Amino acid sequence: MHSVIQHARRLIIKVGSSLVTNDGKGLDRIAIEKWAAQIAALRAMGKEVVLVSSGAIAEGRQRLGFDKRPTGIHELQACAAVGQMGLAQIYETSFRAYQTGTAQILLTHADLADRERYLNARSTLFTLLGFGVVPIINENDTVVTDEIKFGDNDTLGALVANLIEADALIILTDQKGLYTADPRKNPEAQFVHEARAGDAALEAMAGGAGSSLGSGGMLTKILAAKRAASSGAHTVIAWGREDNVLLRLAQGEAIGTQLISDMAPLAARKQWMADHLQTAGKVVLDAGAVLKLTQDGKSLLPIGVLDVTGEFGRGEVITCVDEAGRAIARGLSNYASADARRIRRKPSAEILNILGFVEEPELIHRDNLVLL
Ligand code: GLU
Repeated sequence: MHSVIQHARRLIIKVGSSLVTNDGKGLDRIAIEKWAAQIAALRAMGKEVVLVSSGAIAEGRQRLGFDKRPTGIHELQACAAVGQMGLAQIYETSFRAYQTGTAQILLTHADLADRERYLNARSTLFTLLGFGVVPIINENDTVVTDEIKFGDNDTLGALVANLIEADALIILTDQKGLYTADPRKNPEAQFVHEARAGDAALEAMAGGAGSSLGSGGMLTKILAAKRAASSGAHTVIAWGREDNVLLRLAQGEAIGTQLISDMAPLAARKQWMADHLQTAGKVVLDAGAVLKLTQDGKSLLPIGVLDVTGEFGRGEVITCVDEAGRAIARGLSNYASADARRIRRKPSAEILNILGFVEEPELIHRDNLVLL
């Protein structure tokens, strides 16, 4: 068996609180430096890597001297705020040793539910990856309460995989992977090397919650794998203290449990757009733009747009029609309707002059466009 990580080009790596904070004793500098070294090596192999790191609350709690996890929401939020400084500092220092920059991104559920912020997060992540920087993501714990939380970073990792169409999600945890039953209680328990993400039988195997440090257990990992699979990402659950685990996975060694998605990333995104029947607006394309989209597989540029109807925001799905009114494509607009009206029929080089800012040279990027 081969690891799916070998051919994955864009990866999300999620590390859990107990690994990051050495079971709550304080940031595990040695472990973090080892991951940084491996991630730098992965980047040198041409892979793009986004790290999702837990551990803010566990680290903050330690720094503030709580001997057990506080229960008050504001105390937890304060712990997260304190601990996040520690995370940012240790990651920046550890990656710097391998000439790799880091960037901090703190997200909330509302950020990904809102199409405009969703697109902004996506564009910024792509820009950072283009700069060769490793984005390090955590939930913005200081401003969210239980009802509006992602809940755990396994879910957040999967949502980020969806957001940037990652090929794979690696969840590093304090267990070797998934067993058919709890190996501490059941001697018959067998290790699961590979399964289909979303297989209902997995949920029964996963059992209860995880350690007291983080908030995820095996079940949240299984559900995260299912979510990641919906945009085409495979998931690997592996033990974070395994020697050179990331490098070995990248070299094709099958370590941990791999949960396979049966959808290709781009196809999954386009499926979502094709299913998005309610579109907020319409753009009428000239014949040249129609050809560019349908024959050449190109993006839609503002210059090819004759007319814009309806009211929509940046990031909303709009329909592209030809001059006869036939719907030919659907996609995510990079510009709100009012701005789209001002830049229609104009070369992209003039966007800055007209609007005073540039989101993207395209009105709809090819990757966010599906032909009908
Ligand atoms: N965002 C939380 C933290 O850093 C962790 C969530 C989780 O354990 O999954 O500390």
